[in-house]
Amino acid sequence: MSIQKSIDRIIAPPPPHMVGDGFRVHNFFPGELDGNLARLSPFFLLDYNALMEWPPREEPRGVGVHPHRGFETVTFVYHGRVAHHDSAGNSGVIGEGDVQWMTAGSGVLHKEYHEKEFSRKGGLYQMVQLWVNLPAKHKMTTPKYQAITAKEWGIYEIPESGAKVRVLSGTFKGVTGPASTFTPVEIYEITLKKGSAISFDLPQTYNTGLLMIKGDVLVNTREVTENHFAIFKNDGENIVIKADKDSTILVLSGEPIHEPIFSYGPFVMNTRDEIIKAYDDFNNGLFGYLED
Ligand code: MN
Repeated sequence: MSIQKSIDRIIAPPPPHMVGDGFRVHNFFPGELDGNLARLSPFFLLDYNALMEWPPREEPRGVGVHPHRGFETVTFVYHGRVAHHDSAGNSGVIGEGDVQWMTAGSGVLHKEYHEKEFSRKGGLYQMVQLWVNLPAKHKMTTPKYQAITAKEWGIYEIPESGAKVRVLSGTFKGVTGPASTFTPVEIYEITLKKGSAISFDLPQTYNTGLLMIKGDVLVNTREVTENHFAIFKNDGENIVIKADKDSTILVLSGEPIHEPIFSYGPFVMNTRDEIIKAYDDFNNGLFGYLED
C-alpha cells in the first residue's frame, strides 16, 4: 500500500489579467507561490483562461510578437481554437483537445492569436498555458515544436469504471504519452463520470498539482471545486479522486530541477547575467524575425 499524498494548498482562481487582448488568465503560479519559484519545479508558470465566451470579431484577438528563451510553453485548448506563428517558420492551429508543446530553448519569437474563423464566429473559450522549465544543460537547445492532436494522446480506460485518462507525457498504469520531455514530467487529463473514482501513484519526490477544468471532486478526502488549483505535499505517492459531478482534471507532476531560477518577463534562466544576455540577444536580432 502506498502512502497518500496530502494536499498542501487549494488555490482559488486569482483575479484575471489580460495577456494581449485574447487571453484572460488566472495566474496560479508563480503568482500565488509567495516568491517560492521552485515550489512546483519543473513547472514554472500556469496561466488559466477559465471557460468564457468571446463575442465575434473580424480581427482576431491575441498577443503579438514576443520572445521566449530557456523553457517550454505547453498550450492546452479545451474550448475554441488558437493559432500561432514563430520566427522559425512554424505555424499551426491548436484545436479542442490538442496541445502545442513548444521548446523555446535558445530562443524564438512567436505570436498567439484566436484562429480566424473562431474569432469571426466567437464562442466558448477555455485554455491553459503551462511553462515547463529546462535544466541548465538544455536551456540553449535548438527550438522545436510538438503539435500533439487529441487523437495522439495515450488513453487509459476501463469502460465500465466511468474514468478515462488521457496521457500527454509520462506513463499512467502502463500507457505512455506522446510528448518528449527533457526531464521526467507526468501530465494527465482525467475525466470522471459523476460517482466514479480513480486511484493512482506518483513519486513522492515529484512536485504535483491539479487544476479543476470542470466539475467538483474529492481529492484524498479534500474537496476541490471547479477552476481551483490544488498543490500536493511531497509526503506520499497515492492520489484518490472521487467525482461529485462529471469532472475533468488536469494533473501535473514532475521531478524537480534542483538549480537556481532567475526569471524576467518572457525568459527563464539560471542567473541574472543570462537574463541580461537574453535581452541583449533579443535587441540584437538574434531571435530572428517575425512579422506582426
Ligand atoms: Mn508566448
